[in-house]
Amino acid sequence: MDQIKIGKFISLKRKEKNITQNELAEMLNITNRAISKWENGICLPDVGTMPILCKILDITINDLFSGEVVDMKDNEKKLEENLLEIAKIKEKRDKELLSLEIFIGIIISIILFTCVFVASFINMPNWARIILIIIGIIPFIIGISYSIRIEQIAGYYVCDNCHYKYIPTYKNVLFAIHFGRTRYMKCPKCKKKTWHKKSL
Ligand SMILES: [Zn+2]
Repeated sequence: MDQIKIGKFISLKRKEKNITQNELAEMLNITNRAISKWENGICLPDVGTMPILCKILDITINDLFSGEVVDMKDNEKKLEENLLEIAKIKEKRDKELLSLEIFIGIIISIILFTCVFVASFINMPNWARIILIIIGIIPFIIGISYSIRIEQIAGYYVCDNCHYKYIPTYKNVLFAIHFGRTRYMKCPKCKKKTWHKKSL
C-alpha cells in the first residue's frame, strides 16, 4: 500500500470536489492537521473515518487503498492485493505489540524487584518500606493489565480441537491458565475446553 499515492489521490479528489482541507476536516469532525497528514502520505485515515471519507470523495474503499480509481475489470484483483496488504500490516503491528509486551514485562519486573529489594535490605522506617513496595506494585499491576490486553487483541487464538481462529474476551484471557502464550480456554465454536495456541 503506497501511502504517498493514497495521499495524493485524497488531495486530488478533494480538489475535484472543490472542498478545502478545513471544510473536509469539519465534515469528518477531525482536525485539518489530520487531513494534511493523510495528503502528505504520513499516515492513513483511520478505519472508522474511511467510509464517510469515501462517500464525500465519491470513491470506493478499494479506490482509496489503491490510490486511484480502480477499473471495474481490475476490481477483484486490486481488492485481493489490498486485502493481502492490510493483513500484512496487521501482522507486523501484532508482532510489534507482542515485542512491546515483553519489554513492558521486563521493565515492570525490574521496578518491582528493585523496590522489594531496597525495602527488604536497607534500613528505613516501616512506613517507608510499605510506600516503596506500593510504588513497585502499581506499575506492575498497570503493566500486567496492559500486557493481557495485548495478549487478547494481537493475532488470534486457534482452537486445538476444531482449529477455529478467534479473538477472545479480555476476561477469558485474564482468567485462563496459560503456558507462555498458549491458554486453556473454551472454544466459542466447538465449546470444548482445550489449549489454544496464539497465532499471528
Ligand atoms: Zn473448537
